[in-house]
Amino acid sequence: MTPENLLASQREFFLSGQTIPLKFRIKQLTKFKKILLENEKYFYEEIYKDFSKSKFETYATELSLVYSELNLAIKKLKKWMKPEKKKTNLANRPGKSYVLPEPLGCCLVIGAWNYPYQLSLIPVISALAAGNTVILKPSELSFNASAIMAKIFNHVFIPEIFHVVVGGVKETQAFLNLKFDKIFFTGSVPVGKIVYKAAAQNMTPVTLELGGKSPTFVLPDANLKITAKRIVWGKFLNAGQTCVATDYILADKKIEKELLEELKKEIEIQFPNFDTIPENYVQIINERNFDRLLNLIDKEKVYTGGTFDREKRIIHPTVLHNVTFKDTSMDDEIFGPILPVITFENLDDAIEEVKHRPKPLALYIFSKKKRTIKKIQSEISFGGGAVNDTVMHLTNHRLAFGGTGSSGIGNYHGYTGFKTFSHFKSILKKPYWYEPKIKYAPYSEKKRKILKFLIE
Ligand code: NAD
Repeated sequence: MTPENLLASQREFFLSGQTIPLKFRIKQLTKFKKILLENEKYFYEEIYKDFSKSKFETYATELSLVYSELNLAIKKLKKWMKPEKKKTNLANRPGKSYVLPEPLGCCLVIGAWNYPYQLSLIPVISALAAGNTVILKPSELSFNASAIMAKIFNHVFIPEIFHVVVGGVKETQAFLNLKFDKIFFTGSVPVGKIVYKAAAQNMTPVTLELGGKSPTFVLPDANLKITAKRIVWGKFLNAGQTCVATDYILADKKIEKELLEELKKEIEIQFPNFDTIPENYVQIINERNFDRLLNLIDKEKVYTGGTFDREKRIIHPTVLHNVTFKDTSMDDEIFGPILPVITFENLDDAIEEVKHRPKPLALYIFSKKKRTIKKIQSEISFGGGAVNDTVMHLTNHRLAFGGTGSSGIGNYHGYTGFKTFSHFKSILKKPYWYEPKIKYAPYSEKKRKILKFLIE
């Protein structure tokens, strides 16, 4: 089917009104869950072919989040779909006010490769829950994971409701030329700009989940052992190919040595032997990224790691020290297992440096001091983050997930995802039995005064 025909069939289906009832939506979500459960085995097998992601990591960082979103939507959808009552202002009393959610229509979801299942499927779940039709275009780089999603979902869902299209730039461009009612994109900032521009031609609303350099502040009062454990986990999960991973550490000079030692110890504990326990560590997605990452390792500045296995596309967890903002590793988002540590003597200077850069997707603070935490959080703008942890904030569906500035537009997860794929109609309902004359001509000064009282 051509992109035009596929979208036309979804549009016709959407306009028939069949996606509106709660019963229809629950049926789609339940079917979605059933397919996933029945085929879980293939999801593990196929992603392993892409970048040797283990069953444990695939469940913990992908499928568990997808199931959690599905369960939540199935449980809460009835409530989410209900009109929400609002207070009525004096001028409109005794009327009633309410807000009515409605689906946006035909949606395009474009996924990234680094978490190919959850980054593609969570927005699809939100879109279906909100009563839309969806075309999903996952990333061509995670080829096998994308292919299994297409094979399994396209076998069970009719294309008028939900269809997965595999392909790369050419295929994505073909869809971007069409008029959708919503485009949800996850990926890099440069491609985000292409998507935004294409959407503007059709006045299509977008959600852009992008990336950037996410800093982690470590203050002198932090518990360095636990800090190192939590940073190492969040950074080397998926071999650093995580949009919200610590991109670089900003550490107080006073604790630099101790922190570096703790990071090194923790890497040895969490990744004891790459040859005998390969399932603990993910490959780099392709050769191009492998070479890009090796170029970021300044051999003079390696504190630990810096080694690699080209045949297996593995770069061992690497910590760089004596790094400054002028280093190559500080130019762009690293998106791999390289962790630069920059030190500061004055927190204000470190905050200024971050403030003058693009707004990060995530920011982490390791400290027990309320004042310091408040200072960093209020002075720097960023998407979201955590205090005394990394990455875990995105597992709480009550915390809307998304960036700000160049790290993204809009957000999702849980009820926020439902809202992202809905329009909220604001309605005022008036009774017939009350009809005051003040708004109607002939006007008078007395009427103007009453209006002033009612409206102001
Ligand atoms: P990418 O921008 O290269 O690709 C994303 C999608 O866009 C893919 O489906 C791809 O096929 C498509 N695409 C690529 N080039 C295109 C073009 N010229 N025209 C139209 N479509 C095109 O991103 P990626 O390499 O898959 O992912 C890495 C980036 O995504 C990182 O910057 C990372 O931080 C970011 N990311 C953000 C989040 C988030 O939730 N905010 C999550 C994961 C990744």
